Amino acid sequence: MGVEIFKVGFGYDVHRLVEGETLILGGVTVPYERGLLGYSDGDVLAHAIIDAILGALGKGDIGRYFPDSDPVYRGADSLMLLKRIVNLARDEGFTVNNLDATVVAEKPKLMQHVDEIREKLSSALGVAVHLVNVKATTTETLGFCGREEGIAAYAVVSLVPAAQEGARA
Ligand SMILES: [Zn+2]
Repeated sequence: MGVEIFKVGFGYDVHRLVEGETLILGGVTVPYERGLLGYSDGDVLAHAIIDAILGALGKGDIGRYFPDSDPVYRGADSLMLLKRIVNLARDEGFTVNNLDATVVAEKPKLMQHVDEIREKLSSALGVAVHLVNVKATTTETLGFCGREEGIAAYAVVSLVPAAQEGARA
């Protein structure tokens, strides 16, 4: 491989856990007594990934593209928003190469949902599932995640020129 343009981006997001909401992480509905509050569906993981892709592209953050002042994004499916950002990256000549993400939640236990979340994200990002890594951790009951007040997500993505897509298969 010669010298190629390679971009890396990082994203971080937090949403408050409240009663009366559905918990959606990476496009997957996770059975739990509470869910994440947000103007959209509150999918903290999808939002962190969106910010990571925008970061890699040098294009600001999620609020620039999907402002919460716009009623069209009320209750929005964040996985659809993620797909739009993946298309934006394609328009810029880049495709997602791989994703690594960590969800920080004291409860519920997410390990049994990780594979389904990876499948959903793989489809939304247009990359093979083995290039989509999702980890779940707790903060050992410390801090806002530990007190179950909210869930946080961190994401790192790498982007490569879209022309390489076929060559990587
Ligand atoms: Zn968010």
